[in-house]
Amino acid sequence: MPLVWRRSPVIMTSFVVLSLVSFDATYAAWSRGHVRAAAKVVTSKCDRSKFKVILDVGHTAEARGARSARNLPEFDFNLRLAKRIEDKLKSEGFAQTSLLVTDGPARPSLFKRAAAINDSRADLALSIHHDSVPDSFLEEWEFEGARSHFSDRFNGYSVFVSHDNPKFWTSLRFARLLGRQMKAQGLQYARQYAQPLMGRYRRKLLDKKVGVYRYDQLIVLARTRVPAVLFEAGSIINRDEELAMESTERQDMIGVAVASAVKEFCGSR
Ligand SMILES: [Zn+2]
Repeated sequence: MPLVWRRSPVIMTSFVVLSLVSFDATYAAWSRGHVRAAAKVVTSKCDRSKFKVILDVGHTAEARGARSARNLPEFDFNLRLAKRIEDKLKSEGFAQTSLLVTDGPARPSLFKRAAAINDSRADLALSIHHDSVPDSFLEEWEFEGARSHFSDRFNGYSVFVSHDNPKFWTSLRFARLLGRQMKAQGLQYARQYAQPLMGRYRRKLLDKKVGVYRYDQLIVLARTRVPAVLFEAGSIINRDEELAMESTERQDMIGVAVASAVKEFCGSR
């Protein structure tokens, strides 16, 4: 889950509302222009050996993020998937791919990771997470004799970008490529973030075809000066999807999707 899941609601000032209105107009114009530009295509070079991808493993060994329906920590899912994506990217020639594993308590770790990403001067930062639900949606069940929690109501991946990142438009471009590749793998995105029932966790859906949302307050995106995207790879509070996320088949599908998106992104710069 995103690292600011339980923070107090952000106060919407009229300034922010006005910003959102003008953002919508800008986004619509950009989106039309982007489609026209894409139609022209474009031979471009991508030197994979020089392209630097940093894979930020969400949460830390001490503050392990969400708990799955079967009581496993999100951090373990994030680390395993990030390693698999790293292997896939390296096997495709992206030799400068690296994992960012941060330690310590949750909030200070966010600033540490943003600083590490900025120091790395990466071409792209991808933060890897697994999703859950707000506490009010949790239901109880017993797993291996232990009282446990789940919600089978929602599933799917989602991709987040922050308008506070100075490379917002470039970040959005990668986010859409990633969403498109996840869709091409037959995977669905998490619809609930656009729905009123999510209350203060509701987000603006920027690409309704492939599941890209705007989430300005995410520190790992907002404090980062390189193109940065946060990826919720799937839900681990959904009992079926948790099992899928543990399978090598699903991890390989996601590895293929990320690698394909990175190749396109690198080639389109
Ligand atoms: Zn998370």
